[in-house]
Amino acid sequence: MSDPHIHLLLTRHSKDEVYAIIRESFKVPITDAHIEAGLDASVTLNATQLAGLVQGQERFCTRCGWCCENCTPVDVTKSDLKAIAKHLKTPYKKLKKRLRLRRIKDVAQAYKMKAAPCTFYDKGKGCTVYPVRPNTCRLYPLGMPAINAHLGKKVEIANTCGAVEEMFRMLVVAHISMTLAVEAGVMPDFNNPENIEQLRAQMGIQIPDLKTVINQKLDPRRP
Ligand code: SF4
Ligand code: SF4
Repeated sequence: MSDPHIHLLLTRHSKDEVYAIIRESFKVPITDAHIEAGLDASVTLNATQLAGLVQGQERFCTRCGWCCENCTPVDVTKSDLKAIAKHLKTPYKKLKKRLRLRRIKDVAQAYKMKAAPCTFYDKGKGCTVYPVRPNTCRLYPLGMPAINAHLGKKVEIANTCGAVEEMFRMLVVAHISMTLAVEAGVMPDFNNPENIEQLRAQMGIQIPDLKTVINQKLDPRRP
């Protein structure tokens, strides 16, 4: 598998806001140079780091509903629809008719639901089919970037999602923390790949590849 670079685009906040968010994450003073280096090191990911983000997405999803209200029509498969029909105790054909689906050209048994907001979104309750939400939603917003990265394509992730933003903040904070520790002489320099490999080996850390992570995220009941 190729290992393309993946770019995270900061779209939700101004530069000043980003700097303030990072500063608030530290109890000790940090310089602009620390933040700049942390941002530079974190906006460009490799496929292994993207796999880590895909793995952590669900944990950091705030259920803010931004994607449910704003994203283009959600893709669903026949098995997604069957699971949703069962969950809602509605006959499959009735559900299909209600959703007024559009077939996706050249993809068997795949459809687009109506344009945003999603039919299943309720402002008060959030997603009303959350336990059986389509696989597209389970992987949002990193699914397509992850698949494209796996195929060796250039990837840019527009950071409109709170979960991605939080994970990005953590990457930057981790980078700055390590820089501070190196500066204080209490940690080896992890900009050196050899030191990272040594630490991984010592701690027995294994990060699965992107394909494995995507498969882990998909609903196991689906074919
Ligand atoms: S935009 Fe991101 S954080 Fe908000 S509900 Fe969607 S996946 Fe979760
Ligand atoms: S199915 Fe649920 S998670 Fe997916 S877009 Fe609709 S409301 Fe959001």
